[in-house]
Amino acid sequence: MAEPLISRDRWVALTFDDGPSAFRPRTLEILRRHAIPAAFFDVGMRAAANSHLVAFQAREGHQVFNHTYHHPNLTKLTPAAVRAEMLDTEAVLREAGARMPFRGMRPPFLDADDTTLARLAEIGYDTVVAVHVITDDSDAATTPEQIRDAVLTRLTPGAILLLHDGNVDTPSGRSVVTALPEIIQGVQDHGYRFGTIGADGTVVPAPPLRPCDEPVPHIVDPVPYLPLVERFRGDPPQDPPDPYVIVESPHS
Ligand SMILES: [Zn+2]
Repeated sequence: MAEPLISRDRWVALTFDDGPSAFRPRTLEILRRHAIPAAFFDVGMRAAANSHLVAFQAREGHQVFNHTYHHPNLTKLTPAAVRAEMLDTEAVLREAGARMPFRGMRPPFLDADDTTLARLAEIGYDTVVAVHVITDDSDAATTPEQIRDAVLTRLTPGAILLLHDGNVDTPSGRSVVTALPEIIQGVQDHGYRFGTIGADGTVVPAPPLRPCDEPVPHIVDPVPYLPLVERFRGDPPQDPPDPYVIVESPHS
């Protein structure tokens, strides 16, 4: 059958921040079913808690990158703390066997000033991966339809899409995995294909995912949740999915 007519520059990349959470196995199942590669910007403390899942992500053919260890705002940290947040996460990924394709990162809260960028560059993190399409998926009240429509109405060639299949500080994530099949289908119906992140931080074309022959693993150990700002104060609107554990930030 002939290749569908798709302009060569209509590529986007699917990225997930803050995992691996309890929803990550479902994300991996959906990506496998649709043969879509994704880039996971994982949090070190969560990667350490379920390192088998991080290792699997890499074997499955996805990209794994650095989203710090405790998800702090890097602009508020000392140079030594920035370094520790990045390098401790890098060590967890490496020890799990999930080597980054290059030193790529995304700052928590998408916040990095010139001083932070210089500190990151000093330890080899020249590639700070941008976000072009963002949704309200951090709010557990956002519906799958709202997430899907927020993505599909903002597609442009080269767009990097940000989703959270389980925020570090909220029990959200369920809506994202519910929306994901329709997001994938909708992106493809708009004539786009899914690429990966290149070392210059832009979307590069990629072949369909060729999954490994292992079953997608389950979450085994409690997923750390860190009450960060105002979103997760008091009683959460719904409990995070089990197993989970609430932890404290070493920076506050
Ligand atoms: Zn984040």
